[in-house]
Amino acid sequence: MPRKQYAIIGIGRFGSSIAKTLSEMGFDVLAIDSDEHRIQEVSKIVTQAVTADSTDEEALRSLGLRNFDVVVVAIGEDIQSSILTTLILKEMDIPTILVKAQNELHGKVLTRIGADKVIFPERDMGVRVAHHLTSPNVLDYIEISEEYSIVEMKASEAMIGSNLKELDIRVRYSCNVMAIKRGNQMNIAPSPDERLKPDDILVIVGQKNDLLKMELGLEE
Ligand code: ATP
Repeated sequence: MPRKQYAIIGIGRFGSSIAKTLSEMGFDVLAIDSDEHRIQEVSKIVTQAVTADSTDEEALRSLGLRNFDVVVVAIGEDIQSSILTTLILKEMDIPTILVKAQNELHGKVLTRIGADKVIFPERDMGVRVAHHLTSPNVLDYIEISEEYSIVEMKASEAMIGSNLKELDIRVRYSCNVMAIKRGNQMNIAPSPDERLKPDDILVIVGQKNDLLKMELGLEE
C-alpha cells in the first residue's frame, strides 16, 4: 500500500511539531509557510519545504497539493487566511483536511466549509492539564464527543489488590474499564477477576460527569 502523503501549511509551533513527528515516523511531508525563515528551519527535517502563500490558489495547485491525502492547516492567528486556505483545499477535493482553530467561532466556520477535523490544541491541552491537576492519578484525558471522554488513570492505592469485579466501576460510576496497561503490556480485554497491581494504568471510557466523579472519588 502506498504511504500517505502529508502536507502541513503554517509552520508555527504546532505545525512544526506535526511536521517533525510525521517525518520521524518516516512519512513524506511537504511543509508550506509564507515565512521564508520558517521554511529554511523546517527544510532540515521534512522531505520538501516551500515558501508560498496558501491563500494563493495557483501557488497551491502548482505545488501539486491535489495529490495529497491529508493536509493540515496550522495557521492560527490569521483567521481569514486559515478559512480561505481551507476553502481552496476543499475545492481541490483533498480527502482529509485538518484545521487548527483559534476559537469556537473560527471552529464553527471551518466545520461549515467542510474541514474534516477541527483541532483546538490550546483548549484541549488546557482540559487535560486541569484534569491532571485536580486528580494527579489522571495521566491523560481525551474528549471523544461532547458527552464522552476517555481517561488514562493510574490505579490509586485504594484500588491496588482489588479486582475489577470488586471495584465495580461500571455500577458505581457508570464507566467502563476498556484496558489495563501494565509496563509495556496492554490488556485490551481485562477480565473481571483481574487484580490491580501498583503502577497499573486503567483506560476508562464514560460520560464526562461520571468520569469526573470517579477521578475525584478515587482520591478519597
Ligand atoms: P503556533 O501557536 O503554532 O506557533 P499560531 O497560532 O501563533 O501558531 P501563526 O503564527 O499565526 O499561528 O501561524 C503559524 C504559521 O503560519 C506562521 O509561521 C505563519 O508564517 C504561517 N502563515 C500564516 N498565514 C499564512 C499563509 N497565508 N500562507 C502560508 N503560511 C502562513
